[in-house]
Amino acid sequence: MNSYDALRRKVLDSSCWLAEHGYLGELASGGNISARSAGENVVAITPSGKSYFSMGLEDICVIDFELKTVEGSLAPSIESGMHVGVYKNRPDVNAVIHTHQPYASTLSILNNPIPALFDEITVEIGHEVDIVPYAFSGSAELVANVIGKLGNACHCYLIQNHGALCLGADMKRAMKNAELLENVAQIFYCALTTGEKINLLPPAAIDYFADMRKTRFE
Ligand SMILES: [Zn+2]
Repeated sequence: MNSYDALRRKVLDSSCWLAEHGYLGELASGGNISARSAGENVVAITPSGKSYFSMGLEDICVIDFELKTVEGSLAPSIESGMHVGVYKNRPDVNAVIHTHQPYASTLSILNNPIPALFDEITVEIGHEVDIVPYAFSGSAELVANVIGKLGNACHCYLIQNHGALCLGADMKRAMKNAELLENVAQIFYCALTTGEKINLLPPAAIDYFADMRKTRFE
C-alpha cells in the first residue's frame, strides 16, 4: 500500500461518480479531479487522457506543488498547474473538480456569470459564479486567468468556452458544489430562454449569506 492511497481513493471514487452522472463528457475522459493532502504541498490528481471507467487506484497520480511526481506512473492531468494554482492561492480549498458538465458548459459559451438566485447556492457557492476568461487547456495563461478570479472567495467558476471549476473545503463539499452548480446553471439557462426578467435575491439576503459564509469558510 502506498502512503497516499486514502487520498487517491477520494479522487477515484469522486471521479467515478462524476463520470457515471455525465459530468465528464460522453466518453468520460474529460475534466480532472484532485484533493490536497492536509498540511502538505501534495496533491492526488487524475491522470491525463485515461477513461474514468477503466481507472484504478494505482492510476491516480500524486504530485507536489512543483508538479513533480511523488507516487504513480502515469502522466498527471494537463490541468495540474490549474489545480495547484488554486491550492496555493486558496488555503480554504482542499478539493478541486474541473468538469465539462452540460448546463454549466452551456453558460460558459454564453459568457454569462450566474448571479445570486437561491439561498442554498449563495451560502454554499457564493454571491456569483464568475467567468474565467478563455485560454488554451493546460496553458500558463489559463492558470493565471483562474488565479485572477479566486479573490472573490466563491466556490464555483465557469471557464469560458470550456466548462466548470468547483472547489471545496473537502471532496464532499466540492462534489456538492459541482451538483449545485449544474442545478442552478440548468435553471438559469431555462429562465434566460424565456426572455422574461430574472429576479435576483434581494441585496440584504446576499449580504446576510456573505456574513454566514465568513463564519463557515474563513
Ligand atoms: Zn476541461
